Amino acid sequence: MSELRYDGQVVVVTGAGGGLGKAYALFFGSRGASVVVNDLGGSFKGDGASSKAADVVVNEIKAAGGKAVANYDSVTSGDKIIETAIQNYGRIDILLNNAGILRDVSFKNMSDKDWDLIIDVHVKGSYKCARAAWPYFRKQKYGRVINTASAAGLFGSFGQTNYSAAKLAMVGFTETLAKEGAKYNIHANVIAPIAASRMTETVMPPDILENLKPDWVVPLVACLVHKDAEENGAIFEVGGGHIAKLRWERSSGLLLKADDSYTPGAILKKWDQVGKFDKNAQYPNGVADFMGLLEASMKMGPNDK
Ligand code: NAD
Repeated sequence: MSELRYDGQVVVVTGAGGGLGKAYALFFGSRGASVVVNDLGGSFKGDGASSKAADVVVNEIKAAGGKAVANYDSVTSGDKIIETAIQNYGRIDILLNNAGILRDVSFKNMSDKDWDLIIDVHVKGSYKCARAAWPYFRKQKYGRVINTASAAGLFGSFGQTNYSAAKLAMVGFTETLAKEGAKYNIHANVIAPIAASRMTETVMPPDILENLKPDWVVPLVACLVHKDAEENGAIFEVGGGHIAKLRWERSSGLLLKADDSYTPGAILKKWDQVGKFDKNAQYPNGVADFMGLLEASMKMGPNDK
């Protein structure tokens, strides 16, 4: 298979001054794309700002013969980041919503500031960038978005209620973008990566980190955002050479007649069925998938009290 290329395309990578974002930026810069290297340059907790992080990456791309421009705005001003792409390159094709911070603290000690900062950077930041890129994507009938979730959002993680909430929000956000964008050839997918970075270096042992290079997340992202890629609205876990898709599973469930006989006792009597993940389990991917069950319930006789 020939090498995937992105010649003539413009890629915006948020949080591209380090970690995963830097790996994405260097890759796309080496495969013909013009890259907007966004990074606020603060600490991993979201304090401070510096132009250095983005500048180093831009210089590296340029030194290797690629095209790149820096942007130092926070993703909460995503319109300015997209404007950098338009002003410098006249278009935007691919948006990698990657910037992120952590404010880990047990829920008992969580402050409004810890909560708001995390929701702002991850949720509002991804929204602002995608919202600003959207009219360009629609007009050119082409766009690719990657949003960044986390296992912490999918499964929960001690000390990360704020981060977990923000990261699962990326799944719902992506699913709806995928549905709204499909007819304009705008594809959105979401990844839950695992990689060695300043975010993980204090919580994982060095030998594990050695096998979790950010570079091992890049190939999946490269596949998903390529112009020939068809994937849309998918959720992936990726890291250390492993890639897997995730999906929702609904148990075959308990179906009761919704009338006066639908009591707590009627539910408890058949509680096992509520959590039965057997061969009749479903894999729903739309809100209307529920309607068939509702119709079946309406046709049932009264529940056995
Ligand atoms: P990282 O700290 O190395 O990189 C994040 C970058 O985002 C930093 O360079 C930082 O300066 C930048 N940034 C932070 N706030 C910003 C803002 N408001 N505006 C612009 N830039 C900002 O961390 P990483 O591990 O490379 O994380 C990248 C993404 O992957 C994050 O969204 C993170 O939550 C997610 N993630 C990472 C892992 C992992 O194992 N590393 C796991 C799950 C999710």
